[in-house]
Amino acid sequence: MKATELNQLKAYLSKPRKVVITTHKGPDGDAMGSSLALYNYLLKKGHLVHVITPNDYPSYLKWMKGDEHVIEYCFNEEKAKKITESAEIIFCLDFNTLTRIDSYATVLERSNALRVLIDHHQQPDTFDFNFSDTSACSTAQLIFEFFELLEDADEIDQDIAECLYAGIMTDTGNFRFSSVSAKTHQIVSFLMEKGARNDWVYDQIHDNNSVNRLKLLGYCLSEKMEIVDDLAVAIITLNKEELNRFNFKKGDTEGIVNYALSVEGVNVAAFMVERDGIIKISFRSKGNISVNQLARDHFNGGGHINAAGGVASTIKEATTKFKRTILNYINN
Ligand code: 5GP
Ligand code: MN
Repeated sequence: MKATELNQLKAYLSKPRKVVITTHKGPDGDAMGSSLALYNYLLKKGHLVHVITPNDYPSYLKWMKGDEHVIEYCFNEEKAKKITESAEIIFCLDFNTLTRIDSYATVLERSNALRVLIDHHQQPDTFDFNFSDTSACSTAQLIFEFFELLEDADEIDQDIAECLYAGIMTDTGNFRFSSVSAKTHQIVSFLMEKGARNDWVYDQIHDNNSVNRLKLLGYCLSEKMEIVDDLAVAIITLNKEELNRFNFKKGDTEGIVNYALSVEGVNVAAFMVERDGIIKISFRSKGNISVNQLARDHFNGGGHINAAGGVASTIKEATTKFKRTILNYINN
């Protein structure tokens, strides 16, 4: 973000504003951590703030301060519309294009509010203000840097620190991805000094599994993982009937794709799951294999070089297309 833009934004936020914070559909730890960190900060600064998510998110994320005030657009359309209509400034966090917020996009497009993007996905659209850094490990890290730019890092209290910690921890696979920098660890150190309990946050997110979730994971690994040896590719698919069998709850399939990528010799993994009549796909890769480009070119999606997502109509279509096209990205 340019200095002039930052100053404009600072000036705009120097008096109480009606603020909406929104994030992508199927919010994850980074989406909710970033949104609620910014929410709690802006509340402290005297603004009227609402977080509106396109839809519901996993229960293991529902411990963050302010969570009980989050409005899920799909369940509260009228309320969300009213609040969005009267908003003066809308922060769009952890997504790069309005298609990522589904039908809430039409509501946002009708509003006259200033739109500020804070995000780390590739190829972001242009908003009124863009604070985008595709090398950042998480949007939560960018929210921290945004507080720094506002010269307000000292406003970070334990609640805000734990929201940010959760965002950074989840989007870096618990600090193991190459996107983690020395700066990330410096930020985390600062957050811990502000009271973030690393073990407590980890426990909230990762040690709250239902027995069904673990059985579903076991089923995926023992029955559903296909290794295509000559492509160094692993694929796991799940249909609706299988989800029902394990009493699927939101978030239960999160992270399964990483097990497929962890197989020795595998450089690309795909996890395909039937949801709301479409197939949602998660791609993961190693090195310079761009699953972002694959998702953009063939699956109406996008994301990051090594972690992206997209959609298809049927599992058969998705697996066939994936096996047919992936070679072009492995060789390039
Ligand atoms: P996940 O596989 O964890 O759902 O998503 C991995 C990454 O790809 C995330 O950064 C996410 O934002 C992005 N992503 C997932 N699904 C889609 C999609 O349908 N469209 C786009 N543009 N990005 C996606
Ligand atoms: Mn993110």
